[in-house]
Amino acid sequence: MQDTSDHIHLPAGAILFEAGAIGDCAYLILSGSIEIFLRRDGAVAVLGRRGPGEIFGEMAILDARPRSAGIRAAADCVLLPVGEAQIRQRLAGADPILRLCLETLIARFREALPRLAPAEAERRPMPPSPTARADFDAALAALTQEHALRRALARHEFALYLQPIVRLATGRLAGFEALIRWHDPERGLVAPAAFIPAAEASGQIVAITAWVIDELGRIMPGILRAALHAPATVEPSLFVSFNVTAQDLARSDMPGLIGAMLGRSGLAPEALKLEITESTLMQDPAGAAAALARCRAAGLGIAVDDFGTGYSSLSHLSTLPITTLKIDRAFIRPMLAEPRDRRIVQTILRLADEIGVVAVAEGIEGAAEAQALTAMGCALGQGYHFGRPMPLPDALARAASWDAQAWRGVPPAPATPLSA
Ligand code: C2E
Ligand code: MG
Ligand code: MG
Repeated sequence: MQDTSDHIHLPAGAILFEAGAIGDCAYLILSGSIEIFLRRDGAVAVLGRRGPGEIFGEMAILDARPRSAGIRAAADCVLLPVGEAQIRQRLAGADPILRLCLETLIARFREALPRLAPAEAERRPMPPSPTARADFDAALAALTQEHALRRALARHEFALYLQPIVRLATGRLAGFEALIRWHDPERGLVAPAAFIPAAEASGQIVAITAWVIDELGRIMPGILRAALHAPATVEPSLFVSFNVTAQDLARSDMPGLIGAMLGRSGLAPEALKLEITESTLMQDPAGAAAALARCRAAGLGIAVDDFGTGYSSLSHLSTLPITTLKIDRAFIRPMLAEPRDRRIVQTILRLADEIGVVAVAEGIEGAAEAQALTAMGCALGQGYHFGRPMPLPDALARAASWDAQAWRGVPPAPATPLSA
């Protein structure tokens, strides 16, 4: 497949396409200029010129019809193709009224096209408006990011870091959360907040999640083997949880992907847990419920991530096949100083208990929080206190030598005096 983010160099006079051609992309002009032309009675009528900062060829993509006019380079130019999928993905998410306006505008323009006079050729092109300039800059930044993510996938620049999840009452290692990192050759280690939102906007998240699932199949057998070295301090039901988005549930055959990965790696489905944030879950609860039900039926655990921040409707919560609630760290950090946050945590713990799911406190940074949460009956904890997200070799070493005593969420018993 052609990489549509690669620049195209078009020499002056070269024809990019003719009217009637079927197009699969629009183009941003990075430098140089192009002419839009129609052939009439053997003559060429130039309808307009476009220069740097402008887009052309978008109409045939927006209304999925043949090119309305031809394009040739008026001067040497560099073009950045914007693929059909890149536009359609955004169009699908646009406001339907705006989409209707756009379709109407294009239909009117197509109707008027035969009447356009050759005198148009003399018209000077208007410089782009300031808003068009801002849109151009934003479009260019998004396309550059998309290109970089596609390249990152092709060049294996992603890695899964692992953060321990601990049984608070015993200090035993219960699992890990897999968190993606990008080793960008130019920027170094990039955190997910810097690229996951863009990957969601462009739809590339589906390919990234497919990579995550594949990578879990590769690394999880090693993690489970390492855990066998410390049977007293690591739970036999050790799991790895990973993050998915609403798009993954809606658009890809995720249960199928996971099933194939489990088949290849020989892992038990119970060793895997999906995490989906509360806010994405509430975007389309019915759609998510169907996909999650399939995953749950296959044996996977289902966790609601960042719980307490996404306005869950409790009626939806009770119909979703969830097994775990992860309490957002926004409530954990201020919990010791703020009675209100402490009460919220207590309420979520009671809710988890009522609906029969496991609670995990996220963002535990100190022993005092771990102890308070243990006393409140929270089952599992995760946070810098127990360990930051770490590369695979470090996680394997931690699992093989896990020190449960160090991480019990209760203060150590006072040493018994020798002569009592
Ligand atoms: P999350 O799933 O809620 O993951 C927990 C985040 O909190 C991680 O940030 C983790 O490093 C951070 N964290 C853990 N303990 C502490 C703590 O004690 N204090 C503080 N301040 N932070 C703590 P990270 O790795 O930067 O990930 C951010 C978010 O990016 C994740 O939030 C998740 O929503 C998303 N993400 C990460 N990996 C993936 C992935 O593979 N796919 C998708 N779709 N999203 C991912
Ligand atoms: Mg998570
Ligand atoms: Mg979270």
